[in-house]
Amino acid sequence: MDWAGNSEGYGAMIGRREDLSGRVFGNLTVLPNYRHLQRPARAVWLTVCTCGARTWKAADNLKRGYIKSCGNEHRWRADGD
Ligand SMILES: [Zn+2]
Repeated sequence: MDWAGNSEGYGAMIGRREDLSGRVFGNLTVLPNYRHLQRPARAVWLTVCTCGARTWKAADNLKRGYIKSCGNEHRWRADGD
């Protein structure tokens, strides 16, 4: 609803929790676990990667498409083991 005119004003999002749980960003699926860090002030979500690793990722980085995997090296040639 607000997407049309206000996409760059992300500073206003600080302190306001946006629910990313269940969203998929590349290889990462966001779990319901949420934390708000003090320093730096940012929202982080626990994510699970297709490789099984669970890592905390900043919401902004996920939404902007900067992060698409856990950060471990993946073997892209095969799906699963
Ligand atoms: Zn991974």
